[in-house]
This record gives sequence, C-alpha cells and structure tokens, in this order.
Amino acid sequence: MNAALRLRLDGQALVANWRWLDARSGAAACGAAIKADGYGLGAREVMGRLAQAGCRDFFVATWDEVGSVGELPEGCALSVLHGVRDEDMGVATASNARPVLNSVAQVARWRPTGLACDVMVDTGMNRLGLSALDDVSGLHIDTLMSHLACADEDSPMNKAQAAAFRALNMPAKRRSMANSAGICLGTDYAFDLTRPGIALYGGVPREEAAGNIVQVAYPEAQVTQRRCVGAGDSIGYGATFVAERDTEVAILNIGYADGYKRAFAGTGSADGGRFPLLGRVSMDLIAIDVSTEPGVSEGDWLTLDYDLPAASHATGVSQYELLTGLGARFDRVWC
Ligand SMILES: *Cc1c(COP(=O)(O)O)cnc(C)c1O
Repeated sequence: MNAALRLRLDGQALVANWRWLDARSGAAACGAAIKADGYGLGAREVMGRLAQAGCRDFFVATWDEVGSVGELPEGCALSVLHGVRDEDMGVATASNARPVLNSVAQVARWRPTGLACDVMVDTGMNRLGLSALDDVSGLHIDTLMSHLACADEDSPMNKAQAAAFRALNMPAKRRSMANSAGICLGTDYAFDLTRPGIALYGGVPREEAAGNIVQVAYPEAQVTQRRCVGAGDSIGYGATFVAERDTEVAILNIGYADGYKRAFAGTGSADGGRFPLLGRVSMDLIAIDVSTEPGVSEGDWLTLDYDLPAASHATGVSQYELLTGLGARFDRVWC
C-alpha cells in the first residue's frame, strides 16, 4: 500500500449514518446497498463494519459482486438485485445469496430449484421488476421489493407507488421499498426492510438528511511539485487560468481519470476551501493556489474538498457519480 492517492474512509461516520437511517426506518430493519464495490468505498469493508453495527441485509447488483464481497458475516443475508441469468445458475444455486427475480424468465429459471429468492415488482418506475399480475406461485419469497422512481423529490408518484406496492397480493416473509431518499419520506415507506445506499456513504438525498448524514470518504492527494507562477503567466491546458499576481502553486497527483471531474474547474478546492483549484482538471493532475501557505511542499498530503451535497451542487455532477467514479489508483484507508 504505497499509492500516491488515498481515499480516507471514516468508519465511525459510516456506522453513524447507518444508525440514523436505521432509527429513521422505525420498526423496519435497515439493510445496506453495497453494489458497485460499496459505492466505491470497498464492499467487503463496508459489509464487515455494518454487520458489526447490527445490519443484517446486504444488496449487490451481480453475482460477480457476490464473489468479491467475500464470506458473509454470521446471520447476514445477501441479495443480488439483477436477478439470475442462465450463465449465473451454477454459481447462484451453490451460493447462500438470493437472487432478486425481476422477470418472468427469471422466475421460470429459479422456480425448479426450490430455493429461496426475493422478488422485485415494478410499481411505476419501468426499470426492473415483474408486474403485479405475474405468476409467482411455487416460489419461496423471502423479501418482496419495489423501487421508488422519485423519492428524492416531492412527487405524487411516491404515494402512488407505495399504494400500488401495498395492494400487491404476493406471499412473502417481508416487504421492502425505500432507498435512502425513501427512508427520508417517512415510515409509510419503510415496510419491513429498508435499503439505503448513498446516504450510508455521506450522500444527502433530501433535506431531512441534511445535518444528520455525515461525510465518510475523503480523497487525499500528494503534492508532486510546488512552483511560483509569475503574474501574467498561465497554468495548464488551454491556459484558462492566468495569474493576476505572482502565485504559489501546488501540483497534485489527482485528475479526472481518478474520478475528480473536470466540472470542478472554477469551483474545486482543498483543505476546507483554503486552496482553490486553478485552471482545468487534467487526466492525472490539478493545480491549486497555496500562496497563503508557505509550508506546503513536495510530498505533502492534502485533502480535496469532497462533501457530496456541496460538491454535487457546485459541479452539477450527481452525488452517486462523484462517489462511484473514484478510481482504482486510490489506496482505501479506513480510520
Ligand atoms: C441502489 C439501490 C438502492 C439504494 O439506493 P440509494 O439511492 O443509493 O439509497 C436500493 N434499492 C435498489 C433496488 C437499488 O438498486
């Protein structure tokens, strides 16, 4: 572990976010979506920490991801949101994870196994899921699910989807509908089990979560070079930044190939706003103004400002993309 980029991960913040979401879920259990490698933080680490805090239900997208999360902690369940393809059947039937069946073909594929499953029903999103009238006879359904299309907004669709879900006549041990934003909508949406993702990792999907959900992931980059840019000289591609006065600049080894989006141009900063980003974001490098800090020098580590709601508001990039885009060049360091 000697990468020149670090993603510092606050394990206590992760657990605190889960506890808030759990409390907000009322009597329902609170699970955790850990697909896309735990939204980029590391699914195995996230699962271990949340299982220790009391989380029992985890969600990934594919069977590949089941393999990479490793052994399930004692008493925990794992569901595979994309269901099961023909080419997954060997792995799936040998696994203790459950497919979330989404289509009539998936139901037909799984029924003969006699094994437990979850089922997703579409209540208006028209992405994944069976329709209310599809035949689920012969299945052993653990959790019946649906997914909200507009939970991050005050849309009439939320109530309509919850009502359609409540009206379903399918036998299951439990029901589950709410993602992070759905949890914020209130316990009418919680049913028996909630499935937060983004808010676990510091995303604020709705106002209700502001001030309660805290940042978990902090990108840290190293100073590769410090230089003085003279008044009138420019920095970087396109020479978009021209120094009005002599400016002390630190070049950091992070860029858009690491998920630090070009949209940070003109708005990004490091160290709590102390060091503004200058000019464009390159593939592997950025420049920041360190004129106020003579002590910053080659080899120093600096923290990029990456509070998800603030960064999303400033760049127009969604909180989900800001998080899941953070690339493979980071060492992920839990503290
Ligand atoms: C990703 C996902 C979630 C978690 O959503 P967030 O908006 O990240 O909280 C919950 N349910 C399903 C079906 C998902 O695909």
